[in-house]
Amino acid sequence: MIILGLGTNLGDREANLRHAIECLNTIGTITKQSSIIETEAVGFVSDNKFLNMVVAIETNLSPIELLDATQKIEKQLGRKQKSVNGIYHDRLIDIDIIDYNGLILNTERLTLPHPKAKERNFVIIPVNEILNS
Ligand code: ADP
Ligand code: MG
Repeated sequence: MIILGLGTNLGDREANLRHAIECLNTIGTITKQSSIIETEAVGFVSDNKFLNMVVAIETNLSPIELLDATQKIEKQLGRKQKSVNGIYHDRLIDIDIIDYNGLILNTERLTLPHPKAKERNFVIIPVNEILNS
């Protein structure tokens, strides 16, 4: 299973998630969607809470093609800043590849499974939900 994590803490957050899902449906087929949960920012201080969810997607894209595609969608939806060296910012949309069929990969651009996922409740909770559904 390929699992993507979505997060947003700026603007119309529900619309941001909806638009991200519409875009993701053009690069594959979304087969499962978790509930949306509201969470405090992790790793940086912000007044703006996040909405988080995860989706399962079926796609023919390779891991790096999927990263390219999801980063393009982030840009299309207006995301400006990237996180560098663990410095995080408010963001309109973040799309992370949480897991790609269990593949283990450690390259400069892409680490799989996502290294922070298993310590973040905003990933663990919705992942458990779709795995049990
Ligand atoms: P974060 O998601 O940690 O807030 P960004 O979305 O700005 O930060 O991503 C920073 C970089 O993380 C990206 O440019 C991407 O190359 C890299 N990255 C490494 N592994 C992954 C992954 N599994 N999913 C998404 N991005 C990843
Ligand atoms: Mg990201």
